[in-house]
Amino acid sequence: MTQTTSRTSDTQLSQFRVKGEIPVPMLIGWLTLAAIPILLLFAWRSLDRGLAGSATILIVFAALLSINGIVYLASHNSTLQRRGFITVITVLFTYLAVNAIEDGSAIIWLFAYPPIIFYISEARVGVIACAGGLTAVALLFSPLGDMAFNSPYSTSFRLTMLAVLGFEMSTCYVLDQSRRRSKLGLLKLAAEFEYAAKHDALTGLANRREAHEQLEAEYQRYLRNGRPFSVLLMDIDLFKSVNDKYGHHVGDQTIIMVARTLQEQCRKVDTLSRWGGEEYLVLLAETDTAEAVQTAHRIRQTIASTPVNADGQSINTTISIGVATIQGSESVDRLLQRADEALYRAKTLGRDQVCDSGGH
Ligand code: GH3
Ligand code: MG
Ligand code: MG
Repeated sequence: MTQTTSRTSDTQLSQFRVKGEIPVPMLIGWLTLAAIPILLLFAWRSLDRGLAGSATILIVFAALLSINGIVYLASHNSTLQRRGFITVITVLFTYLAVNAIEDGSAIIWLFAYPPIIFYISEARVGVIACAGGLTAVALLFSPLGDMAFNSPYSTSFRLTMLAVLGFEMSTCYVLDQSRRRSKLGLLKLAAEFEYAAKHDALTGLANRREAHEQLEAEYQRYLRNGRPFSVLLMDIDLFKSVNDKYGHHVGDQTIIMVARTLQEQCRKVDTLSRWGGEEYLVLLAETDTAEAVQTAHRIRQTIASTPVNADGQSINTTISIGVATIQGSESVDRLLQRADEALYRAKTLGRDQVCDSGGH
């Protein structure tokens, strides 16, 4: 996977939420609510031990987290909330480590950092933050850090801390990658299911259920803006004989060829569907009868002049089309009924015909 695609999936991942997954703003909210009393408790302890400076700084951190929370509640800007939270906790953890708060034991809070950072930000940000954090701790524990901060940490503590922190960060990275991959897999699976639920497997056209959905949506638009739409109900002529003569496989190829022709002859805004076995329904958005009949003729002619080549044989097919345009306050069912009647007329007139519901 390239850098670009992994970034795209990361962005996609943060946009979609899988059922049961805790939303990042909510997690940050809960972490903020948990952190404030803990900070105040340790501020009170510092005050009790005569460390007024530490107490003040811990209270300032609690105040900053509260402000970040309030700003989010007022603005609902989750990016700002996340960035604010990451900034405050990064500075807080640095302060705890550098100033050896609680006799140097507060540095242990650094272990809370990797899982939080990986969960609330993109993998790339998590890696950068953890690598930066580990390097900062290594520097703090180095002779250079000793010269600058004179930390009280023992050598064995420093070694253990660095090893365990590095181990934890790596584990968090692996678990996070696994979580992201599972989520991506789930999203892909959901998209595949959604596609399968809406499309016909043989032709890739919309299935009957999806066609009904689109008809309803177009009908609602028609009720709002008054611009009529049309439907073409079409059926392959004498298709049973194609199956009987050449076999089911050739029949399937014919069904696919008609679908391809529809795709070529219609606009992107039109809905092309496989209505039944060898029947199709085309929904022509914002199209009157004259235009719809013109389109129907074009489709009929193209199919009549495009033989299907299957198993070395060339088979000519024709279709009959019934055209109907929505009118007045009639229902979608009534529109479909008129298209069906027009199709029936096209069949009785000898097939390879276009008839509209006005009787032409
Ligand atoms: P008409 O001109 O009156 O429409 O005659 P027809 O033979 O096309 O009509 P009929 O309804 O008698 O036959 C339709 C045939 O379509 C019967 C059925 O076996 C076949 N069929 C339906 N679905 C499929 C499919 O997915 N693949 C193939 N190969 N055949 C199918
Ligand atoms: Mg039929
Ligand atoms: Mg037929």
